[in-house]
Amino acid sequence: MRRNINRWQQVFIGVMTIGLLSLGCYLFKDFIDYRIVALILLLAVSVLAILFDIFPVLISALLSALILNLFFIEPIFHYKINSAESALLFFIYLLVALVNAVLTNRLRKQEDKVRDKEEKENTIRLYNTLLSSLSHELKTPIATIIGAVDILKESGDKMTIDQRVDLYSEMEIAGSRLNSQVENLLNMSRLETGNLKLKKDWVDINELIFIVSRKVPRIERHVLVFHPDEHLPLFKLDAGLIETVLYCLIHNAVRYTPNGSEISIKTNFDDEKLAISVSDNGKGIPDDEVEKVFEKFYRVSSSTPGGTGLGLSIAKGIVEAHDGSISLVKAESGGAAFIINILVEASYIKNLKNE
Ligand code: ATP
Ligand code: MG
Repeated sequence: MRRNINRWQQVFIGVMTIGLLSLGCYLFKDFIDYRIVALILLLAVSVLAILFDIFPVLISALLSALILNLFFIEPIFHYKINSAESALLFFIYLLVALVNAVLTNRLRKQEDKVRDKEEKENTIRLYNTLLSSLSHELKTPIATIIGAVDILKESGDKMTIDQRVDLYSEMEIAGSRLNSQVENLLNMSRLETGNLKLKKDWVDINELIFIVSRKVPRIERHVLVFHPDEHLPLFKLDAGLIETVLYCLIHNAVRYTPNGSEISIKTNFDDEKLAISVSDNGKGIPDDEVEKVFEKFYRVSSSTPGGTGLGLSIAKGIVEAHDGSISLVKAESGGAAFIINILVEASYIKNLKNE
């Protein structure tokens, strides 16, 4: 709480709390003894000490002591104190309030230190996991590109056109893998730091699906089933980020199903809700791992090696940044079906796109 409220706001709230409580007690002062008032004020100072920093709490403690003396301990409206008992109560009150403020503050600083340490350890763990999985994921395509360039340089002129084309397409796939890993990294860091800003514009979702599916390596070895709905309006979305989500889902469907499998993409727009599903007829994901696949770095142990386990966690972050949701269900064929639901602004005037 205190992290959201600045020091002077805390002082204001503290002074107001003590002031209002004292006023309440003053109105009933004929019915309550000044010792009870002292306990009530002490309780208020203790609560403030739990919530606020030391400075505002000290101010509140001193103020409550002054009010106690001035308005509740005889003689009223005078700083003098008549009896030794009242004087003792006043000084004990002041001492307890101050000690309370200082001790609670110390305790909280200790807690902050422990929390900071835990946060630091979590960050270090995250970066270690990231580094170990990424170094492999980055090294492999780099090695492919360097190797292919070497072969082309040394014996390119002796190769057939087909052999050369194979090498070029390997380089292309490795390059796009590098590109998507770097893209993943950037998006993850934006999501982690809360810096993912949406740049929404009118998007033709049919066109986007076509563009993305063409970019997915080895998609031609699968059967892509997509019947664009010509009546679909344009949607206000961040095209680049939704492209990342679609790429992740289609790429996964290609990567984790055998060649020749069917990948089906469907869209539906109803009552301001856009639904996009990407399903396949592969072996799917075990029931007990359905939720886990959206966690950072999580990979199903039996799945094809390669991949950092970041794709779906980023996809989830992006969809949620659009105030939407992403879920995984079993496809009718037993494969995996990912369904995105986003409440979205739509426009039936297609030429808005060129605004
Ligand atoms: P990358 O960060 O490169 O995308 P990744 O593909 O391993 O790595 P995710 O996209 O987050 O990471 O996927 C998490 C895991 O979920 C995958 O490792 C895979 O085990 C499983 N998975 C995802 N999609 C499918 C699918 N269509 N069929 C079967 N398993 C899948
Ligand atoms: Mg993936």
